[in-house]
Amino acid sequence: MSLRDGLFSKEHYLVCFVLVLGACTAARAESPGTLAPPPTSRPKSIFRTLPTALPTATPVASPTPIICPLPDLLPGQHISAGGSYTETETAAAGPMVCRIERDSCAYRHLIGDLDPSIVFKQEEEPPYGEEDILMHPAMLLPLTRLSEMVAAEWGGTVRLRVTDAYDSLLEHDLTQPDESRRYSLHFEGRSIDLTTWPIEPARYGRLCALAHCAGFDWVHHEGDHCHASIKAESLCLRCRD
Ligand SMILES: [Zn+2]
Repeated sequence: MSLRDGLFSKEHYLVCFVLVLGACTAARAESPGTLAPPPTSRPKSIFRTLPTALPTATPVASPTPIICPLPDLLPGQHISAGGSYTETETAAAGPMVCRIERDSCAYRHLIGDLDPSIVFKQEEEPPYGEEDILMHPAMLLPLTRLSEMVAAEWGGTVRLRVTDAYDSLLEHDLTQPDESRRYSLHFEGRSIDLTTWPIEPARYGRLCALAHCAGFDWVHHEGDHCHASIKAESLCLRCRD
């Protein structure tokens, strides 16, 4: 990936799509604390064929300079959109409304980010690996901005990597042994875990600061990654009749 590629505007390489696979007649938003059994059958693919008439990748004349004067976050430190180092994630980004189940109505409102400038870890077994690219639509803009900022910050030698986004497997809040009580904005696609690529933990303090400047509403330096969340209407609420 060249520096020039990393500095294109988001419209040129942000190829995303809305997972609208059917009517939302049967699905209902779940209340926190409930989790239906996993579906017994899964679709062959959740992805639709991308349209053939995608916009051509015409570079912009000159990228906007990125200024982020925020000091690096220290491990354990977090910051809200308003600049508070004490505000909680719930206050800054809103509470978890539900846990989105695969193949539910809310699940079909998640979008997949196919930005080639971003490295997606996708470590889980199929079909769960693709969950790392799935997120709330409001996540796209700050994520694209951040990818641009990372490229600019380190002269195109470093890329943004996503290690987790939406999570249906409840692999967050692992200190809570009761899965039905696990709580994380990852479960509704409003949180994302970020590192640099190549992996260089010494850069994570700056990466977290950049995430704040890119527009995430709450950023937490968790030591081995930056956790970033957005404040947006829960997709679960779109599926209530
Ligand atoms: Zn996280």
